[in-house]
Amino acid sequence: MAYVITELCIRDGACAEVCPVECIVPGPEGDPEWGISYFIDPDTCIECGACAPECPSDAIFPEDEVPEQYRHAIAKNRAFYTEGPGYSARK
Ligand code: SF4
Repeated sequence: MAYVITELCIRDGACAEVCPVECIVPGPEGDPEWGISYFIDPDTCIECGACAPECPSDAIFPEDEVPEQYRHAIAKNRAFYTEGPGYSARK
């Protein structure tokens, strides 16, 4: 399990500043598919919970508490690091 950033993200970036394992990365600005949000690498997240309270739009949830209407964000965060812009950054 990991924490997940949903589409409520307003790209504030405070989450990334507090993450102890630096697993939160913004999508490329202006990219229509990935530019709307930051994304958490689910394989690196240690579930410390530091990011969620920093988010001004309450966009971050533990995976098992993501509201039903935002659950697609779980796959989207993972996809960012497996096939999206985060893939090359991770290698
Ligand atoms: Fe980073 Fe902790 Fe948030 Fe996971 S829960 S993304 S490790 S700050």
